[in-house]
Formats: sequence, C-alpha cells, structure tokens
Amino acid sequence: AGSTNAASFEFRSIGIISTPFKQKFGIPRQSQSISKATGLIIFSSDINPVNACRGLDDFSHLWISFIFHENLQGGWKDTVRPPRLGGNEKVGVFASRSTFRPNPIGLSVVKNLGLNSKNELVVAGVDLLDKTPIIDIKPYIRYADSISDASCGFAEFAPDTILQVDYSDLARVKLNKLLHKHPDFEVLLQNILEQDPRPAYKSVTEDEKTYSVLLYSYDIKWQVREAINYVIDIEAKY
Ligand code: SAM
Repeated sequence: AGSTNAASFEFRSIGIISTPFKQKFGIPRQSQSISKATGLIIFSSDINPVNACRGLDDFSHLWISFIFHENLQGGWKDTVRPPRLGGNEKVGVFASRSTFRPNPIGLSVVKNLGLNSKNELVVAGVDLLDKTPIIDIKPYIRYADSISDASCGFAEFAPDTILQVDYSDLARVKLNKLLHKHPDFEVLLQNILEQDPRPAYKSVTEDEKTYSVLLYSYDIKWQVREAINYVIDIEAKY
C-alpha cells in the first residue's frame, strides 16, 4: 500500500510548427522575448483547422504545448544549472524551464495572428525550433493565467539586453539584399545577438571565437568585440 506506479500515456502531435530557428543555439530562452519571431502551425491531416480553431480569433494569445523533440535522446537529471544563474548553481528540474525533463513537454505563450489562407495558424513570439511537434493549443485567459503579484525566483525579471549589434560592410550589403524575402530578418538577428546567446560564463570583452547562428536558410557569423556583437558575414546555406 502507498506505492504509486507511474502510468504512461501516448500522445500524437496535432501538427508541426515552422519557425525561422533551424538550430537550438540562438533561440530565445522564453517565448515573447522576441515578439517578432513568427511561427506557422501546420496541422496534421486528421485535424480540421477551421472547426478546431472556431472562436480562437477572439483570443489574442495562446498557450501551445509541444515536444522538445531534439532532446529525446538526451535523458534528464533531477537537478539542472539554469543559464540565468550563470550556469553554476543547481536547482531542481521542476524549478526550471530546462528542456531536459522527465516528460519532454514545453509550454509557451504566443500571440495569435489567426489562420492564414492555407489554414495554418500564424503565431508570434515563438521560442521553438523549426519542425517542433505541437501537441495542444489553448486560449490564454488573462484573469486566470496572469498573476500580477507572483514571485518568480531567479527569473523575477526579463534578462537585460547586454550587447550592441554592428555589421561589417559585407554583412550589411547581404542583409539589405535578403530583407525583401524576410522583412523580419534584421529585427530577429538584432534581438538574438543583443541577448547574447553565448554560454552564460563568457566575457563580453574577451572572446576570440567566431560564432555561427542559423536563421531561415542563412548562416550568420559573428564575434564579440568590446561588448559589441559584430556580424562578420551572412552566408546562404541552400
Ligand atoms: N517556453 C517553453 C517552456 O517554458 O516550456 C520553452 C522554454 S525552453 C528554455 C526554450 C529553449 O528550448 C530554446 O531556447 C531552444 O534552445 C529550446 N528548444 C526549442 N524547441 C526545441 C525542440 N523542439 N527540441 C529541443 N529544444 C528546443
């Protein structure tokens, strides 16, 4: 008596989300931190989006539940080191938003931009990798879901914007050329780089390394130079 056996359940995805983020590095650590980052939820063929999303237009924000599908092989530990604590201090996995969890389920609030002409659901402020499987969508309900006096431990405040962003002449020319295809590219890149996606312990003045971040189909090379994130080049990948 008294023992509790873990039950197991099987879920299927209701669709996948298409986002500009092709690799984990550089993705904002919470939704809404890059409000321009847009995602398209492409529904599975067994879901009728018009029926399943009827009335959703009246809600400006949504909760989306999803699977951290890139971490499925990664396992999990009961303590983790959140980047916000500088990557040294440990907290319990349930006191964190770590992507390595006993069940690899993520939860993000996004802005609802409605169904497009292809019946894909357009959302903004995503922190999800491209092709992430979505398992549920629910309306965000302000009176129930927003608790203005909640205390939030190590995540009490949004992280500071740490770095300025500058471009080489070459990167600037390439950026200007691709803005007609991806008008949000500059804002996204600016937001990613100013939030300093490097590991928490890296110095903002001394770091020789050239980093690379993928956005849409472009590989962006950048370096930190005296607290400025300097974009060296933007290369088309395919
Ligand atoms: N807001 C969600 C939550 O609290 O559950 C996600 C927070 S989690 C810290 C956000 C990070 O998850 C991103 O910065 C990215 O590196 C990672 N990520 C996003 N989509 C993923 C996926 N499909 N598989 C694995 N990691 C993913």
